[in-house]
Order: sequence, then C-alpha cells, then structure tokens
Amino acid sequence: MEVVNTEQIFARVFCEMRPRTPLPFIHVKFRKYANANAQVRLFDGTMEVRLADTLAGAPDTVIEALAEILLSKLFRRPVPGSSNDRYRRYLNRRDVRRNLDLVRQIRGRKRVEHPQGHTYNLEEMFEELNFRYFHGLMARPILGWSPHASRTMLGHYDPPHNAIVLSRILDRPGTPRLAVEYVLFHEMLHLRHPAEHNGARRCVHTKAFKEAEKQFEHLREAKAMLRKL
Ligand SMILES: [Zn+2]
Repeated sequence: MEVVNTEQIFARVFCEMRPRTPLPFIHVKFRKYANANAQVRLFDGTMEVRLADTLAGAPDTVIEALAEILLSKLFRRPVPGSSNDRYRRYLNRRDVRRNLDLVRQIRGRKRVEHPQGHTYNLEEMFEELNFRYFHGLMARPILGWSPHASRTMLGHYDPPHNAIVLSRILDRPGTPRLAVEYVLFHEMLHLRHPAEHNGARRCVHTKAFKEAEKQFEHLREAKAMLRKL
C-alpha cells in the first residue's frame, strides 16, 4: 500500500486541475477549529491549506474529495458533485458527527445573551409554550438572545450546547409577541424532532416536524408577521 500524506494529495489534485501550471509549494496546517473547517490560499508560489484537526483522521479518499472542493472553489470552477457527495457522506457518518459534537462542546464558545431581553423574556415564553403544546414536559434548554440582530437567522437550536438562540431583532417592542412565540416554538420542535441523517442527506424538517408545527395556533398570521420584520 502506498503511503500518501495530505500535501501529496493536494499536489495530485492541483496537477489534475492545472496541468500546465508549476506546482506551488504546498503547506498543510492542522488548526484547532471548533468544527470541520477548511480553507486554501495561494500566494507567492505557496499554497497554504488550513484544515481543522478534526479532519486529521479522515481517509485519503475524503481528503482527496475535500482537495477537489477547495481547489475548484479557488480556481472558480464548478465543484464536482461526486466530491461534494463523498465529503458530505463522511461528515454525516455517525462516529464523525459524534466526534464533531464533542469538539464543539469543548471548544465552541457560545455567544448567547441573557434570556430576559429588552422586550421579551424567553424563559417565561418557553414555559408558556411548553405548557400549551408539550404538556409542560419539555426540559428547558439554555435560552438566550443573540448578540447581533440577524434578519437571516431568526432562531436556531444548537444540539451540542443544548441551546436555543433567538435573533435580537425579535426583541423589539414593534415585533408582535405571536411572531416571537412562533420562532421559539419552531426551535422547540427541533429539540423534540432531531434531524434525520440518511447517506449524504440531512433532513432537518422531517415529516413529523412539519405535522407538529401545524398545531401552532395562528400559524399563518405568525409567518406573515415575520415576513414584515
Ligand atoms: Zn427549522
């Protein structure tokens, strides 16, 4: 069996994509990221590859797929579907996901602000929704407002931290309570209905999730309010 290192894999992929370009000096650094991040930069005849150390144990075929993804992006070429698929499949493996969750728990610092906002109290709201829709049986996760008022991410549930974070943009007197309740309810459903992993696919809003969401009273009104934020 041929022993190859990460530099050699990147060199091989580089030669395949740019056969006429002289091979740069390739330097791979493993960094302690809180996830499976990867970056590549090319300057002064050096290609610097930064990979999360969580990828250090990945099989060569996965590193090769990642090299194809990163170099395609670097050279502004379409990423081959097969490479994307191979890399996603690896990240979706149960043991890999468990390892990443652990690393996130240990390294990731969660930026969450106190649940008592300027306008709404998330703990109080959680208990009301818990009583109304979950028979009061849901264990309370960490709840908090995001430091930044994001419009694109109104809320998210973070399983490794067991935290629900709502965007600060919802904590305004002009935002109707129903709209905030709906976002919180949606994230509570993520806690109740975990994502399903199937090969390279990851389904976040499962059938069961969508059914449960329909129970929310005034669902349509709430969604319409969010569109007007
Ligand atoms: Zn969702």
